[in-house]
Amino acid sequence: MNAEIISVGTELLLGAVVNTDAAIVARALSELGIDLLHTCVVGDNPARLKEAVETAIRRSDLLVMTGGLGPTTDDLTKETTAAAAGKQLTLHQPSLERIQNYFNEKHVSENQAKQAWLPEGCHVLQNDNGTAPGCAFQAENGCTIIMLPGPPSELAPMLHNYAVPYLKQSQEFTIVSHNVHIYGRGEAPVAQMMDDLMDGENPTLAPYANEGECYLRVTAKARTHQEADQLCQPLIDEIKRRLGGFVYSVDVDSLEALVVQLLGEQGKTLATAESCTGGLLSKRLTDISGSSAVFHMGVTTYANQAKEQLLGVPHETLEAHGAVSPETARAMAEGIVRASGSDLGVGITGIAGPEGGTPEKPVGLIYIALSDGKNTWVTKRSPIGRTKSRDWHRHCAASQALDMVRRYLSGLPVVAEHQYEGDKASRG
Ligand code: ATP
Repeated sequence: MNAEIISVGTELLLGAVVNTDAAIVARALSELGIDLLHTCVVGDNPARLKEAVETAIRRSDLLVMTGGLGPTTDDLTKETTAAAAGKQLTLHQPSLERIQNYFNEKHVSENQAKQAWLPEGCHVLQNDNGTAPGCAFQAENGCTIIMLPGPPSELAPMLHNYAVPYLKQSQEFTIVSHNVHIYGRGEAPVAQMMDDLMDGENPTLAPYANEGECYLRVTAKARTHQEADQLCQPLIDEIKRRLGGFVYSVDVDSLEALVVQLLGEQGKTLATAESCTGGLLSKRLTDISGSSAVFHMGVTTYANQAKEQLLGVPHETLEAHGAVSPETARAMAEGIVRASGSDLGVGITGIAGPEGGTPEKPVGLIYIALSDGKNTWVTKRSPIGRTKSRDWHRHCAASQALDMVRRYLSGLPVVAEHQYEGDKASRG
């Protein structure tokens, strides 16, 4: 099935609103295994909208329209699309009653009532978060047309709760995708390692890059969800066999979600001492619901004085090696374990840029330490050629810290340049 999205709204053409609706719809179509071949944006102009709709109906099996279903005079999607598809609008009484109930008034204005006029014979998609219902219907040539409201808070639930089940009914096959998440190997080397697996037709395998990480999507098509899962599993097993501990999960949302889950399962707690990441690591951990059971505390110690006072980083360490050094990162991790009484502590110190770099300590140089009170591992991130943003360095440093914790909790070797056991130091 070939699909097309038309997003309606002059605000989108002006760049005042980013077209997130199209991205939400595109993701849902891809999960359904429907090929999206075109997306376009049209302003609130009936003639240009008519032209775009007629073209889409001619060349696509499915047309998804977003926006322009509301009460105002520039909301023209329904009228224009219905006309282009050869349909009349008729009053849908249950939708009118929903609008009346929404406003708690028997007599709503003509504008509001206009939203209950829908293409004859359509399947109505209820709006649980607003007034404008959506709808699905067939044009005379068989093209399926779905109309969804513009506000993403209305569009997303309507799409997932009503439009996707509607589309699934007419699909003979179901598509299942699993994402194999990888940390510590980039997209290009991973793709190379999987080269011979990339030609498969069912399941298919595709690599994707994410900020500082990558994942492989395994997708299978079958009559039932279970059959599709069974097709995916051998390929997932083979990927895990080839990549070993670099695979951190299948389908888990993020490294932080996995770390919180592992800490919870093992009854362990974590605390963080951050400098250049400015609390990003603790923010990412506390984004996860349930993290309060495992995340003890996080401190951001930007100034040397704060590192000394709050974490007990020795003045001599800072004098001798500087704030950005493996020794300081180690002292921060060990200091936060002492200060918090947590099982594990992370220390991060580095230069996120764009200012502040020197030839000896360039932008992007970041040390990350993990301590369990007995052993401490310190890893070094060095800039790798291309100039990256401050956000990128901070995000990747936080991810690397999470990966160190994840490896520790999974019983895998913690990837580190330096390891300290008590007072003894060794290089990894
Ligand atoms: P309403 O009842 O709110 O008028 P509608 O279906 O008529 O619903 P629009 O008038 O087109 O929707 O847009 C309403 C608001 O929804 C826009 O101002 C914008 O904030 C948001 N919106 C519309 N289209 C998109 C889009 N494609 N992506 C993201 N946001 C959008």
